[in-house]
Amino acid sequence: MAIEGKIQRISGPAVIADGMFGARMYDIVRVGKEDLIGEIIRLDGQTAFVQVYEDTSGLTVGEPIISTGLPLSVEMGPGMLNGIFDGIQRPLDKIKIQSGTFIERGIVVNSLSREQKWQFTPSVSVGDKVTGGQILGTVPEFAFTHKILVPPDKSGTIKTIAAAGDYTVEEVIATFEDGTELQMYHPWPVRQARPTKEKLDPVTPFLTGMRILDVLFPLAMGGTAAIPGPFGAGKTVTQQSIAKFGNAEIVIYVGCGERGNEMTEVLTEFPEMVDPQTGNPLMNRTVLIANTSNMPVAAREASIYTGITLAEYFRDQGYAVSVMADSTSRWAEALREIASRLEEMPAEEGYPPYLSSRLAAFYERGGRVTTLADETGAVSIIGAVSPAGGDFSEPVTQATLRITGCFWALDAGLARRRHFPSINWDKSYSLFNSILDPWYSGNVAPDYVDLRNEAVNILQKEAELQEVVQLVGPDALQDQERLIIEVGRVLRQDFLQQNGFDPVDASCSLKKAYGMLQMMLKMNNSATEFIEAGGTVDELLANPVMEKINRSRYVPEDEFEAYKNDVLAELDKAFVVAA
Ligand code: ADP
Ligand code: ADP
Ligand code: MG
Repeated sequence: MAIEGKIQRISGPAVIADGMFGARMYDIVRVGKEDLIGEIIRLDGQTAFVQVYEDTSGLTVGEPIISTGLPLSVEMGPGMLNGIFDGIQRPLDKIKIQSGTFIERGIVVNSLSREQKWQFTPSVSVGDKVTGGQILGTVPEFAFTHKILVPPDKSGTIKTIAAAGDYTVEEVIATFEDGTELQMYHPWPVRQARPTKEKLDPVTPFLTGMRILDVLFPLAMGGTAAIPGPFGAGKTVTQQSIAKFGNAEIVIYVGCGERGNEMTEVLTEFPEMVDPQTGNPLMNRTVLIANTSNMPVAAREASIYTGITLAEYFRDQGYAVSVMADSTSRWAEALREIASRLEEMPAEEGYPPYLSSRLAAFYERGGRVTTLADETGAVSIIGAVSPAGGDFSEPVTQATLRITGCFWALDAGLARRRHFPSINWDKSYSLFNSILDPWYSGNVAPDYVDLRNEAVNILQKEAELQEVVQLVGPDALQDQERLIIEVGRVLRQDFLQQNGFDPVDASCSLKKAYGMLQMMLKMNNSATEFIEAGGTVDELLANPVMEKINRSRYVPEDEFEAYKNDVLAELDKAFVVAA
């Protein structure tokens, strides 16, 4: 029998209902005469505390509330790529987001089209025993091969399997001996991590194409990173760049609570981005989840779970997936608003005490795994954090930095000086450096790690010397110290900086980054000898080879090796003290 209660109190997106005997946590409920969609997020005896995913205006006390007995779930199957969904996976129309009219209230909409046909090719035969997560067949979706999975919680012996052909997601494509029918999609509850066979250690890098990240603060494939920074520091641009150039096969972009116009920018920019892997639109391997600040806050709370669940589904097909969440601060604010509407006891800055455990639960769903079908898949998570005024001591930033493996601190001061990416090398860190060092040594160059450490060392010395200069002026420095400042400047301006709008410099391979370090550090060695032998810093700066090093980031990848070898040869004889 359906569990039916009565609305007792309404406070914005939160509703308290009585008479909900037998209801379960996280069950979906239909709220009021208009059948609004809500979710039970706390139970106290027969009283249910519900967050409502739709606008509650017009709802009145005494209206009925009915539990569906089912948890909040999303549909996993073909038809998500190139799609835009809201926080509970209802398909959104780009036009409607722009005009501010969303989905009509109380309407159940299918996430995946029931009409579209997909070209299915089976990969199992009658009599095969299959278990949850195994691959039944494939469907081409743009340039992507979508693998149709047995739902993780089902297993059996194949009695029938559809012949190769076109089917909708609802048509039965396989049956088990026990009568179970399988379709090309299956539901999965968003608050429950999808099962895997084994979690693997991170041993390969998630390459972003950004030198400061890939070289100084690398993210592991399956690792997690936070991008904290105040408004305008470059969080969104950084995430978009990583979405485009990062070495993931599928991108899940969760636009979470940012203002409508910012999301509109993302929604107009994303469809125009060209995939450097294929030359096709980047959207063809992207799913956008959008919950702007003017959409119901409860759906924003759900959006990161919806995003991570979709990511796990693609991971379970054996792919590398990146999840961008922009911004987790707006997500935390949604959590705070609902908690306060339900009169929960607040902790720091009004956030509920479970803020950090919720954030941890989200980031813990990242990782590199062996899937149930014995493939390797990975979910790498990159979450933007937008602390008010750029104050990193606030609760969301603090909770996030305790969880994530990389902390890529954006700096408004650097952005103001047009130093892009405005990632502060002094405040950022990666916990993956030592884990990934063997990979870098083996795959880039044996001396790669030494060169990187040398570069970091120079940057640190330069920062110390800059402090001296601040105190006593540049005249107090000796020539060798001035040299360190100049080499530091080269590293900052020509290596760490990257022009996101330049077709060549926007993304950089590790091979090229390594070559740039080779040039810059060889210059440092030759210049050190040159100064020791009596040369001056001004003579050094006037040498034409310096200009070539400065420009190296604009040299296309295919011309780079030759360019580098020329510069390295030139450095052998560039700095000679006049007799
Ligand atoms: P946030 O999301 O942190 O508020 P944005 O990512 O929207 O900030 O960046 C603000 C502006 O800074 C952008 O519109 C762009 O003009 C500039 N910007 C940010 N990152 C870069 C970059 N890598 N290269 C060039 N310009 C950038
Ligand atoms: P300069 O002309 O002296 O190179 P910049 O505007 O590039 O001036 O840098 C000014 C200061 O900002 C320097 O003291 C430098 O140490 C610091 N800085 C520049 N880039 C970064 C960075 N990526 N991370 C942290 N500090 C930086
Ligand atoms: Mg932004």
